[in-house]
Amino acid sequence: MPTTPSLRDLEHNEAFVERHIGPNDAEIAHMLRVVGHDSLDAMTDAIVPASIRSKDPLALPPSLTEVDALARIRAIADRNEVFRSFIGQGYYGTHTPNVILRNILENPAWYTAYTPYQAEISQGRMEALINFQTMVAELTGMEIANASLLDEATAAAEAMTLAKRSSRSKSNVFFVSKNVHPQTLEVLRTRADGLGIELHVGDDADAASVESYGVLLQYPDTFGRIHAYKALVEAVHARGGLVAVATDLLALTLIAAPGEWGADIVVGNTQRFGVPFGFGGPHAAFMACRDAYKRSMPGRLIGVSVDAEGNPAYRLTLQTREQHIRREKATSNICTAQVLLAVMASMYAVYHGPDGLVRIARRTHRLAAILAASLRKCGVAVGADFFDTLHVVDVDAADIHARAAKVGINLRKIDATSVGISLDETTTRDDVVALAQLFDAQVDDIDALDSDTGDALPASLLRQSKFMRHPVFNSHHSEHELLRYMRALADRDLAMDRTMIPLGSCTMKLNATAEMIPVTWPEFGNLHPLAPAGQTSGYQELVDGLESMLAEITGYDAVSFQPNSGAQGEFAGLMAIRAWHQSRGEGHRDICLIPESAHGTNPASAQMCGMTVVVTRCDANGNVDVEDIRAKAAKHADRLAAIMITYPSTHGVFEEDVVEICEIVHAHGGQVYTDGANMNALVGVARPGKWGSDVSHLNLHKTFCIPHGGGGPGVGPCAVRSHLAPFLPRAFGGEGGGMVSAATHGSASILPISWMYIALMGAGGLRKATQVALLNANYVAKKLEPHYETLYTGRNGLVAHECILDLRPLKDATGIGAEDVAKRLIDFGFHAPTLSFPVAGTLMVEPTESESQHELDRFIDAMIQIRDEIRAVEEGKLDREDNPLRHAPHTAAQVSASEWTHAYPRELAAFPLASLRLQKYWPPVARVDNVHGDKNVFCSCIPVGSPDEEPEAFSEPDVV
Ligand SMILES: *Cc1c(COP(=O)(O)O)cnc(C)c1O
Repeated sequence: MPTTPSLRDLEHNEAFVERHIGPNDAEIAHMLRVVGHDSLDAMTDAIVPASIRSKDPLALPPSLTEVDALARIRAIADRNEVFRSFIGQGYYGTHTPNVILRNILENPAWYTAYTPYQAEISQGRMEALINFQTMVAELTGMEIANASLLDEATAAAEAMTLAKRSSRSKSNVFFVSKNVHPQTLEVLRTRADGLGIELHVGDDADAASVESYGVLLQYPDTFGRIHAYKALVEAVHARGGLVAVATDLLALTLIAAPGEWGADIVVGNTQRFGVPFGFGGPHAAFMACRDAYKRSMPGRLIGVSVDAEGNPAYRLTLQTREQHIRREKATSNICTAQVLLAVMASMYAVYHGPDGLVRIARRTHRLAAILAASLRKCGVAVGADFFDTLHVVDVDAADIHARAAKVGINLRKIDATSVGISLDETTTRDDVVALAQLFDAQVDDIDALDSDTGDALPASLLRQSKFMRHPVFNSHHSEHELLRYMRALADRDLAMDRTMIPLGSCTMKLNATAEMIPVTWPEFGNLHPLAPAGQTSGYQELVDGLESMLAEITGYDAVSFQPNSGAQGEFAGLMAIRAWHQSRGEGHRDICLIPESAHGTNPASAQMCGMTVVVTRCDANGNVDVEDIRAKAAKHADRLAAIMITYPSTHGVFEEDVVEICEIVHAHGGQVYTDGANMNALVGVARPGKWGSDVSHLNLHKTFCIPHGGGGPGVGPCAVRSHLAPFLPRAFGGEGGGMVSAATHGSASILPISWMYIALMGAGGLRKATQVALLNANYVAKKLEPHYETLYTGRNGLVAHECILDLRPLKDATGIGAEDVAKRLIDFGFHAPTLSFPVAGTLMVEPTESESQHELDRFIDAMIQIRDEIRAVEEGKLDREDNPLRHAPHTAAQVSASEWTHAYPRELAAFPLASLRLQKYWPPVARVDNVHGDKNVFCSCIPVGSPDEEPEAFSEPDVV
């Protein structure tokens, strides 16, 4: 007799868990048979050592449906109150052009992309980023700019260290103007403390006389005043110091560029170029500098090179500066930056063009000048020489703030007798009237005031030079043009909306739409980070809720969301360890043990805390060598500060000895830092805070579903046991350890994504996700076993959540290496796995739980076909040099050219599998030449004709 399905069965089909996890139950059963286990639990027990396995399920609520989770977070959002913000202090209102909002910020083709290490499938976003670099370099008047840094305050800290590396002066003092933004000063203090740099905070004028290796000025300053710094800069240069300037790009459309009056390094934030406040982030900061410092510059730099056909092609340039190669000698620990936000800001500039930006700046300035005039008329004192910010003095500040609050307005709190008012692109005539009324000033006729009021920009500093004359900034001003430009760029790239991105250590899993939806709600987007606490209860609830969820998941006691990348989380955690040692009178402890397999950010972060890195060995199985740790911990017992380990190991193995390692390090007075980037293998299965670790950072942009954005944004919360909690980064104006980023909760506006993920999955769903992540990795390893060697396996011949395929033996036999395989995968429409990390000559595959068996099989088929091609080379059926692997990827132009000179058929080049005839990705460029790009560093838009010619359409593919 057919049974009617129960209500519960029917409800099961609504469960988000079934959508997030790729394989269905039948596929899971099949895959389990392939890896040789009866159940997910049995497989988990075979992989995860009993010593760390959690006994109890996570104490989290059961999973919610998308409808219910969205309703819950809607209620949280509604507890935030969105006032009109005139607070300024580095954050300004902006209109995100709707075409950018929908087609970049809300478009998975952009937000699910990976960092552009694989140049051939990243040309679109790299063009957007080179536009960003060009815009920044030209507005600041500097020779070169990067893309991007995490926020203005950390960018200032990077300027402090770049100046240290580049200055001829022997001084250890960095001079900081007392008129930089206060949050910048906070972060500088933390970073200077870590590195032993002495900060001297003083009046601008003292920069000339105080001996220092470098100086930081703010232009316009935090109170809005624009100063003429040329003479001061000359004086600093005369005594061998360098000058860094924090600035505002919108102001620079009207006032002289810092590069024009001698600045050596320029930093700032592009938030007001179309990126909402987001209660502090994320937004893209930038750094521009003299060409001479480029090899010492922090952060990612896009450059122009050529491809195998000699055509121009973009790539990440000068990567030898980065942590992956230079470890503790890297120029900084920045890995994930703010790519998605840099893309938004660059598109804002492409959309408005130089004239549009000037118009926005002029209008903002006009409104500020009109407001100042109306205030002065009724006897309120306002400073001179400003762009958009008024410093109103000699008033009863408490009274003004109280009046403002009544009409839904926030002003900057400065002191008892002055307030700050910053106007911006969103300011209206009505706003000016309302602001004037707070001071009892009446504005009857704005147009009359307008014609009676002159500009307040200093005459000697008006901008004369042109900027952004490249065609790309002068062609896409209609919405159709911009829409098609953005689409054309997106189409050049491979993101997760087209293929799995099986990157080991990066956890490129599903970023579900329901998780993304709250991000663009105004109640999360339009809150200034310094909005009064009474207006931000929703954010408080979100942060507290996420903190307790993550504490439960990790087994730690307290979590700070301030770090805006994983590497910043490492820095925060190590600084907490350092402060804890100091609090116990053991401030001399400064040695950090780091296994040689560690991610490059680990040694780079340790160095930033003034720690000395001692590298420990790994054994032949890829495991950390416990005996070496024991010996080195003992040898350095007097100075041991910490060990940084990654678990499961960077080699994709659950090491048996992790508990013992914690005991060894503790016994010698050190603390245990567990890099939590691999938490996707642990959630619901094991908890580092309970097996003896003291602190971890998590990458919410890996395990907890914040999309990678093409290289950021990220959130790297730092989770600690209770003894370290007092040393976590403090809130702005609060108590605790030093601030590590500009805003109290860092990139707060993307926290809803992780909150939604956890709420949607519930305790059971999270554990199942981990188990399927383990299953998927083992399924791939098992299926590829007859074809490729898997480098390391753990207990029972199983891997953890990722597996390393060893191409080195094949390279020896055939000359075909891991890079050739990575490039050949592009011809199959796949993004390559992680190339040559942690072991050179290998590919590390992390499929994650959200890839279905179908997608895994597609990948496996491609890898097997590639192995067959390698075998054909081995057997002499394909030429050793002229084969599809060495020449991959193949462009449409190549395979359709009249002439075909290769020793293998076109068909093999383009369609190595029959399925590709139905769905084919064509890379826009052939293999990109790395050496050429590093020898001929060029980091701006590719010139099109002479700059004086009429603008022409740029960069659209040729129409055939
Ligand atoms: C990704 C990663 C990091 C760094 O995180 P970012 O957010 O890129 O700074 C650190 N350690 C490991 C093992 C990682 O995989």
